[in-house]
Amino acid sequence: MSDQTTDRRERSQSVAESEPLLSVRGLERHYPVTAGWLRREQGAIRAVDGIDLDVYAGEAVGLIGESGCGKSTAAACLLALEEPTAGEVTFDGQRVTGREDLTAFRRRTAMVFQDPTESLDPRMTVGESAAEPLDVAGVPPEPRRERVAELFERVGLSPESTERYPHELSGGQKQRVGLARALALDPEFVVLDEPVSALDASVQAEILALLDDLQSALDLSVVLISHDVSVVRSVCDRVAVMYAGEIVERGPTTAVLDDPQHPYTDALAGAVPTPDPRAGPPTATLSGDVPDPADPPAGCRFHPRCPEVIPPEDTTVSSDTYAALLAFRTALENDAVDPAGLRDLAAARVTAGSAGGPTDSTGGGDAETAGSSVDTEADGGSVSESVLRETLRAEYDLPERGAVTDESVAEALQSAVELALEGASDEAHDRLDAFTSVCERESPTAHEVGDERTAACHLHQQ
Ligand code: SF4
Repeated sequence: MSDQTTDRRERSQSVAESEPLLSVRGLERHYPVTAGWLRREQGAIRAVDGIDLDVYAGEAVGLIGESGCGKSTAAACLLALEEPTAGEVTFDGQRVTGREDLTAFRRRTAMVFQDPTESLDPRMTVGESAAEPLDVAGVPPEPRRERVAELFERVGLSPESTERYPHELSGGQKQRVGLARALALDPEFVVLDEPVSALDASVQAEILALLDDLQSALDLSVVLISHDVSVVRSVCDRVAVMYAGEIVERGPTTAVLDDPQHPYTDALAGAVPTPDPRAGPPTATLSGDVPDPADPPAGCRFHPRCPEVIPPEDTTVSSDTYAALLAFRTALENDAVDPAGLRDLAAARVTAGSAGGPTDSTGGGDAETAGSSVDTEADGGSVSESVLRETLRAEYDLPERGAVTDESVAEALQSAVELALEGASDEAHDRLDAFTSVCERESPTAHEVGDERTAACHLHQQ
């Protein structure tokens, strides 16, 4: 274990015994969806949908997840840059939510933005930009200049840099200026929103090392927002994993990322390439997209993408088969199964004689393989119906009928495949609608899964 990890663990244990500096309970941020000239409310985009978070003095907490899962909106609410729809934020024991005078809170908190170029005014020298918070706080010119020089040195910039304009600096230097400005009023709590994602890989490591150093040296409390697991791993004591507006797993960073207890965390952590050439490619992949926050899936919001989804109680199919069935059913529901496109794809594969792809043969033991040829527009030739079925099954990872252990599921899948190829998506969807799992019906609550760790997943309820 590295010294850094040991430091973090000790720090994490000691801070856990005190009161949190920042505390969030039941935080929601919904944006109304309106329609018509009267702009009647039709629904809501549930960007953040009921999160709890504690940040203790001197610790760094990572908030990770894919783009669009609500991390940045949550961060804006933490700093009272956005008013939550529900829930409350307290800082040092004082309620922040709904308070009109935030002057004292603003002096004790700061934010570092993702894009260092956009966060600096091109008409001002970077020294003037860094001095802005001091100016607003009424610090006289001479102490202001001295403070900026001191800050620039602290973040690794030369004193002469203060006279430069943003376009004269590299991306990494600009982010150092952003850090200097954020630290100007000596804040206790800083939110870093994707602080290195706009930088080159070579510069990222330098800025992350600087962040880690500043956090320890200044005893800062930090919330670091990132989609990148390795960024969070290098800076944070604890981590909260966010998906579709909710926190699905939390705990000490190393424990969570080395031994994920939620399938979403597992997929995020497994998708990170390792520098070790013997380790091979990333172990997990995350298919599909983050759901529409205006219409999140029922039950567990991750269920349409979850490789470990729990199959319905009254079937004997594996998680893999049920996950494929769900992905196919979701595609049908979204009208994303295109028979014409599948014909083109099948024809292209036959023409290319792609290795491992379907061949234009009507042989095989599958009951559905005896079919006639179907003309394709792609090459003026034809592909058999069996190849079309095979192509569709391959597209959605649907196993062949003989490989499905549960007869009722095998029959429903075969029927749905036939209907989908005829363009009858609704009927095909209905064939599969009879199978529902607890993951689709019930929203999982957070279960304890270890020391100071929780995961919101039905797998831990069984
Ligand atoms: S509750 Fe079900 S769908 Fe959600 S993560 Fe757990 S196993 Fe997957």
